[in-house]
Amino acid sequence: MSATQKPRRKVTLIPGDGIGPEVVAAARKLIDATGVQIEWEERAAGASVFKMGIASGVPEDTIESIHRTKVALKGPLETPIGFGEKSANVTLRKLFETFANIRPVREIPGVKTPYSGRNLDLVVVRENVEDLYAGIEHMQTPDVAQCLKLISRKGCEKIVRLGFEFARSQGRKKIHCATKSNIMKMTEGMLKRTFEEIAKEYPDIQANHIIVDNCAHQLVKLPEQFDVIITTNMNGDILSDLTSALIGGLGFAPSANIGNEVAIFEAVHGSAPKYAGKNTINPTAMILSGVMMLRHLGEFDAAATIENAVLATLEEGKFLTRDVIGDKGSASTTDYTNAILANFGKKPKATSTREHRAIEMDRAKKPTLSATASLKDRKVVGVDVFIEADGTPDSVGKKLEENIKGLPLRLKMISNRGTKLYPSSGAITDTVNHWRCRFMLEAPGSDMNPEILTGLLKKVEQSFRWMHIEKLQEFDGAAGFTKAQGED
Ligand code: NAP
Repeated sequence: MSATQKPRRKVTLIPGDGIGPEVVAAARKLIDATGVQIEWEERAAGASVFKMGIASGVPEDTIESIHRTKVALKGPLETPIGFGEKSANVTLRKLFETFANIRPVREIPGVKTPYSGRNLDLVVVRENVEDLYAGIEHMQTPDVAQCLKLISRKGCEKIVRLGFEFARSQGRKKIHCATKSNIMKMTEGMLKRTFEEIAKEYPDIQANHIIVDNCAHQLVKLPEQFDVIITTNMNGDILSDLTSALIGGLGFAPSANIGNEVAIFEAVHGSAPKYAGKNTINPTAMILSGVMMLRHLGEFDAAATIENAVLATLEEGKFLTRDVIGDKGSASTTDYTNAILANFGKKPKATSTREHRAIEMDRAKKPTLSATASLKDRKVVGVDVFIEADGTPDSVGKKLEENIKGLPLRLKMISNRGTKLYPSSGAITDTVNHWRCRFMLEAPGSDMNPEILTGLLKKVEQSFRWMHIEKLQEFDGAAGFTKAQGED
């Protein structure tokens, strides 16, 4: 190494499954050609690892490598269906707490879409760890499944701060927070409230809340109104596939999974197994993920060299892949990659690029909001017991009331599939054999006396099978639980 040469930066490289090795090879070739000093550590994850009997899909030496390098460029990983294994992608995101998934899309020159000419340039910032993707699922009865949607204030604060800091790093001036807080006031509402609180710290950025279904509608109708969209995990998964379609499809959608310690860069698309080994797929999404990685590593010039060459190649339109122009006259993956390489040093003529600077991760890292710290009063006012029972609302309700006689509780209501049916208020609901029974304590206290709880479960058990209990709490007088539809 000469005195002026930078030390080589180690990066974990995961070729992945299906089309993964082809797109990763294209990205690597271009990154290496910029002259940036990267030492790749190639590691496995995904289908080949599942086949070896490793249920996480991620072997120890891959985990060890990422722990050490802190940066990975990763091809798509296939998720086996029906074997009980977890997704290796989700495992990686969770193992390294890459809490933010940044998914930019911008109009691609030479790629005709119904939105061409409207200069789309927007980014979905998706929470990447919590929400339904935690995959906490239970069969409550043989016929009723449950998935827990846990959203934490800390998780919300991290994604919101990262979203604002990301916007600043690219000079973006507008952020929408997309939630379903009108329905899920506590979980999705947590993100909305956190967003509104933190937005005050960023007066240079216009902050708006939008209901996520309207966001999807507006993205199709008038996508140019969006700049950055911060959203929960599930919403972000769906919205970001939609946004990639606005600019020509998954072949053009890169992403970065960002955590405090580790960052993993990958295309939004999957392993597209039907195209594996055919040398026909579009490697742009993976190449642009590599560009995001270079910026993360502070290699802004190398990133700009590749980004400019990609845009120049697409503007020229001589080498376009099958997904853009169909089979006839399309370029192979390798020809397209070589054309980009040949355009190193060129700039796009009609397409502008953004200035970038590093994200201020230190500001994004420090959660400060906590309701627990300032809490003065906490009460348990009752308990929801979920039971399995055949019968009518009246027969179940009356039986329970009879069973719990003598306990310091009253049955407030029973709901089925979210609607209060006992005492009856005339709702017409097709019931299933899964009921939520809400019992209120005669004397609420700072916690629930375990003897009351066991006494209640014993009484319930006399007639029904119970599966799940949930304390009903109040925090500084505010109910920490929602009412059933139709409940007073
Ligand atoms: P997919 O692999 O993204 O492919 C869906 C379709 O998108 C393809 O059939 C193709 O469309 C198009 N496409 C995707 N990548 C392309 C590219 N680079 N160039 C051109 N066209 C491209 O989605 P999937 O079929 O639902 O999933 C396949 C596997 O990938 C599953 O096991 C899934 O779990 C996994 N997956 C992994 C990740 C990840 O690793 N992050 C993400 C998503 C899915 P046409 O058929 O129209 O040509």
